[in-house]
Amino acid sequence: MFKKFLFVLFISFTLIAGEKPYVLLISFDGFRWDYLDRGLSPNIEKFYNDGIRAMSLQPCFPSKTFPNHYSIITGMYPENHGIISNYFKDIKRNQVYRLGDSAQVRNSEWYLGEAFWETAERNRIKTASYFWPGSEVHLSYRHPSYFMEYNQQTPYKDRVDGVINWLKLPKEKRPHFITLYFEDTDNTGHDFGPDSKEVNESIVRLDNIVKYLDESLKSINFRDSINIIIVSDHGMTSTPKEKIINIESIVPDFGCKFIEPGPVMKIECDINKIEAVYQKLNQNENHYRVFRREDVPDYFHYSKNPFISPIIIVADLGYSLVDNRTMKRSVEKWSLGNHGFDNHASDMHGIFVANGSMFRKNYKTGSVLNIDIYPLLCKIFDIFPRANIDGDLSRIKFILKEE
Ligand code: AMP
Ligand code: ZN
Ligand code: ZN
Repeated sequence: MFKKFLFVLFISFTLIAGEKPYVLLISFDGFRWDYLDRGLSPNIEKFYNDGIRAMSLQPCFPSKTFPNHYSIITGMYPENHGIISNYFKDIKRNQVYRLGDSAQVRNSEWYLGEAFWETAERNRIKTASYFWPGSEVHLSYRHPSYFMEYNQQTPYKDRVDGVINWLKLPKEKRPHFITLYFEDTDNTGHDFGPDSKEVNESIVRLDNIVKYLDESLKSINFRDSINIIIVSDHGMTSTPKEKIINIESIVPDFGCKFIEPGPVMKIECDINKIEAVYQKLNQNENHYRVFRREDVPDYFHYSKNPFISPIIIVADLGYSLVDNRTMKRSVEKWSLGNHGFDNHASDMHGIFVANGSMFRKNYKTGSVLNIDIYPLLCKIFDIFPRANIDGDLSRIKFILKEE
């Protein structure tokens, strides 16, 4: 009771004094939920023992990088926030969104959600991003006050130093919400598979970065003032070469386009042929499921967006869908790990750990949903979330100290 009274007093004082919290949101791309149990990450372990660890973080479908980073930061399903995949088309305008095309990645027209940095800046909270999908959009009122153009070559310590430099700014210029991103476990997971020694080395490298961050924050006397959340966008599963399905060989004569080979393939073809292609694929279903866009099961939340192709094929976990072209290419270079599959499969789940004065201590919970992080951030900063989000604070707020 007395503790609760002190907490309320603390919150009241900080609000009266106009003090806002500091939050650092870190993403380790493709860091599967159970990588934390390999005994390779003592620094992250210390971090969550003094805070929160969820069993896993459930991504949205498809369990890919851009849709999920944007779901985390907007609280919306991909069908609603618009970034439905790492690659998709607006057929009417003949425009393509592609992760590697920086002009499109910075074109704000694709982004239909309100990222947390927009909500925060509207509430006079300064924000910064050392990489995050969607943080580089060209419209000035839609990106954080400070942001970096994505460059995979930027050394990891430089990224941490960048964050530290923002925190060293004079108070009126200092950001209160910062994102930080590392691709390491995704790269090695694709190249060598989730059970490889290379992934284990990535885990160790990222754990050392957490230690470096911790020491750097202490050196500027900021460790106790900042709340840190570490998440990942999705997990990773083994995709052996024997588990390849050539979809083009099932429907060779319809003039179809096979988009984004891998765990989820989209098919486009002449409008008059869609039903015949669907029927053929449906009759031959084997280690995949095929859906008409309007029939995608509700639990995927993947129907509403007009840029979703008329036919979607979802491979069973571990299987890869290819066309003739990728079949040939795959002989030379094959990804031993992949993600994008059904987001309910535990291999697709990521991590959620948090630490800081706003969070409970030494608390372990079950899985949480990544769309609930945006309303959680709004609660931490005591600001109103955007209306019509898919996330729900009531599913996650128990991890906060006061609840
Ligand atoms: P994927 O495995 O296809 O879902 O995507 C992972 C890749 O996304 C990583 O290898 C990163 O290089 C890339 N990536 C991550 N963040 C960004 C960004 N902000 N801009 C462009 N590419 C990014
Ligand atoms: Zn990713
Ligand atoms: Zn990946």
